[in-house]
Amino acid sequence: MTIVVPDADGLRRAVELLQGDSVVAFPTETVYGLGAHAFSPAAIAEVYRLKNRPSWNPLIVHVPHVAAARALAEDWPDAANELAAQFWPGPLTLVVRRARHLSAVGPPIETIAVRVPAHEVALSLLEAAGLPLAAPSANRSEGISPTTAEHVRRSLPEVPLILDGGPASWGIESTVVDLTGQTPRLLRPGALGLRALREVTGAIALPEEVADGAQRSSPGMNARHYAPRARVILAEDVSKVEHGDLAGPVAVLSYESVEDFSDDLVAEVLSVDPREYAADLYAALHRLDDAGVGTIIVQAPPETEEWLAVRDRLRRAAAS
Ligand code: AMP
Ligand code: MG
Repeated sequence: MTIVVPDADGLRRAVELLQGDSVVAFPTETVYGLGAHAFSPAAIAEVYRLKNRPSWNPLIVHVPHVAAARALAEDWPDAANELAAQFWPGPLTLVVRRARHLSAVGPPIETIAVRVPAHEVALSLLEAAGLPLAAPSANRSEGISPTTAEHVRRSLPEVPLILDGGPASWGIESTVVDLTGQTPRLLRPGALGLRALREVTGAIALPEEVADGAQRSSPGMNARHYAPRARVILAEDVSKVEHGDLAGPVAVLSYESVEDFSDDLVAEVLSVDPREYAADLYAALHRLDDAGVGTIIVQAPPETEEWLAVRDRLRRAAAS
């Protein structure tokens, strides 16, 4: 395992591995991805093995531009054109019907999820490799997604190469939208907000299980996910949680403007701005895990649409 700077030599080593059906971790603007040639059965098998990812959970394929995404699709709906024009490169994943001549990326389903990432290193790697890259978050399944190269190293020590592009700027996964039906449907809330999406597509179906964070019908949307080792408790009012029976040390994860609580607790205070909060959330959870805390009491964020993705991740981190 080596962490390298993504200069010409680093990229060359990464391309060599990818073209040899191996895997490489690389930065994107959302989180770090574990990249593999999307249509190499050996490379894809290695991704599932390293992540311990359930075989029914499909992978997002990363491409360098819209034309490369279209080439993977059986048809390319108008909504895909409009969304791609507006938001790619960027943290939006589109689910479309998979081109019939291509094999499924993971489980045998007829759709494919595609995205053009907005990160210079990711784009350079995609161009240099000349391959569509399946790239799920570079962490063990159900764990906290990595926002730094160091997070990847600790979660997946077997990965042969990690390109270090510094901390991820969004720090939360892409928004996933299904375009195979009449109306675009949100499958996973993420970095790109619903308001921005609606400005392009009009109505978006918001399945109840996404809106309320309960069990998901779509693949990969199992309740427990994004979870630190510590137990996570979501609380409207952090100061009202009884600590007596909780596994210690007990930590608090709040956002600015929350009043003081007992100062003998380990505390992480994040921004009151949902985008900044999201950017720091996984790093904060990693730090609390590193500090060996037993329980994290999380101040529940506001029930507004801007906080949808963050609330989704916190709810799933808290699911037992
Ligand atoms: P990850 O890359 O680990 O952030 O997870 C990718 C997410 O995209 C998972 O929730 C997958 O279930 C979802 N996904 C990938 N491909 C598809 C697809 N073809 N249809 C629906 N969801 C998908
Ligand atoms: Mg993931």
